[in-house]
Amino acid sequence: MTAGLLVETLKTEKRLDPDGYRSLLECRDPESVAYLHGTAREAAARRFGHGIYIRGLIEISNICRNDCLYCGIRKGNGNIRRYLMTPEEILGRCSAGYRAGFRTFVLQGGELPDEADSLIEEVCRLIRLGFPDCAITLSLGERKEEAYRHFFKAGATRYLLRHETHDPDHYSRLHPPEMSLRNRLRCLGVLKDIGYQTGTGIMVGSPYQTMANITDDILYISSLKPEMIGLGPFIPHKDTTFAGFSPLPDRRLELTLKLISIFRLIFPDALIPATTALATIAEDGCEQGILSGANVVMPNLSPPEVRDSYSLYDNKACSGSESAEGLGELEARLERIGYHIDFSRGDYQSTSSGSVQS
Ligand code: SAM
Repeated sequence: MTAGLLVETLKTEKRLDPDGYRSLLECRDPESVAYLHGTAREAAARRFGHGIYIRGLIEISNICRNDCLYCGIRKGNGNIRRYLMTPEEILGRCSAGYRAGFRTFVLQGGELPDEADSLIEEVCRLIRLGFPDCAITLSLGERKEEAYRHFFKAGATRYLLRHETHDPDHYSRLHPPEMSLRNRLRCLGVLKDIGYQTGTGIMVGSPYQTMANITDDILYISSLKPEMIGLGPFIPHKDTTFAGFSPLPDRRLELTLKLISIFRLIFPDALIPATTALATIAEDGCEQGILSGANVVMPNLSPPEVRDSYSLYDNKACSGSESAEGLGELEARLERIGYHIDFSRGDYQSTSSGSVQS
C-alpha cells in the first residue's frame, strides 16, 4: 500500500496493521509525510476548529522515590535542590493562573512517598473549592488504587501517566529492577476504571528504543483508548545514566510529529499536547506539533524560582511562550499559523458514540 493509501485507511478505519504503522514511520517521501500531517491537521480542525486548549502546569515537587535512568529528578541525582510546594503556594499559582485565563491546572511532580497522599487529596479539595469551574489534572506517578480513588473524590478528573514503553525488556533497560511495567499498566487500568480522563504516552527516541517498540506502543495505546496522549522526544539530562546519549540518526522530531498525526487520525477526539520537550528540541516545535494535529499546550505555571530545580532534561523550555507569563507570546505565535488560544476547560468529549464525558 502506498503511504497516501495508508493515510486514507487510517483516516477512515482508525487503524492499520503493524506493518502499515511501520511504513508510515519509516516513510521519507516529503509529499507523503506532508499529506499525513495535513490530513491529521484537518481532522483536528474538524473536531476542535483552530482553538488550542491551554493547561497551567504546576510542578509541585521534584522529590521522587524512583530512579528512572533517564530522568533528571530521579532520586539518585544529588545535584538538585529538592522542594515540595505547600498547599498555599499551589493555590497561589492557581489564582495567578485563573487570572491569566487558565481553566485547567496540571499538578505534576516526582513520585512522592505514600505519606503524601493525604496532602495531595487535600490540595485537590482546596482547588475544587476555590476554583469550581476548573479541571484538575494530576501527573504524580504510580499510587495505590485507594489514593487514586481519594483524589478523584476530592475533585481531580484527569490523570497523566505515560507507560513509556510497552516492551518489558525495553522498560527494564530504562528503569531500575524494583520498577515494573506491569504495575504501570495496572495503574492505567485502575485510572480508567475509576473514571479519570486518562493520558498515557512515550518518549520518542529513548535509549534502546526500536521501531518495533514504537509500533507496539501504537497498538497498546490504541487498545487502551486514552483520552489524552503525550508524545515527547527523549532529551538527555547531564546527571543521569544517559547523559551522553545521542540517538543516531536523530529522528526524534520527525517521529514525534508523525506519531502526533497517527494518533490524531486514530483518535480524532483525543487531547494531544504539543509538549514542552518538543518545544525544547525545535524552536518552532510547538507550531510544528499543532500543524501535525496537536490541540493542547501546557505553559509552565510553576513559581519561577523552582523551575530550574524541576529539570527533567537539559535546557528544558520554561520561559516565553512555554510559560504562563508568556500567554501573549503564545497567542501571537498561534495567530501566525492561523490558530488561537481556546480558554475553555477543554474536557475530553467523545463524538463517536454520541456520548459526552466531562
Ligand atoms: N512522576 C510522574 C510519572 O512518573 O509519571 C510524573 C513526572 S515524570 C518526570 C513526567 C514525564 O517526564 C515522564 O513520564 C517522562 O516521559 C518524561 N521525562 C522524564 N525524563 C525525560 C527526559 N530525559 N526526556 C524527555 N522526557 C522525560
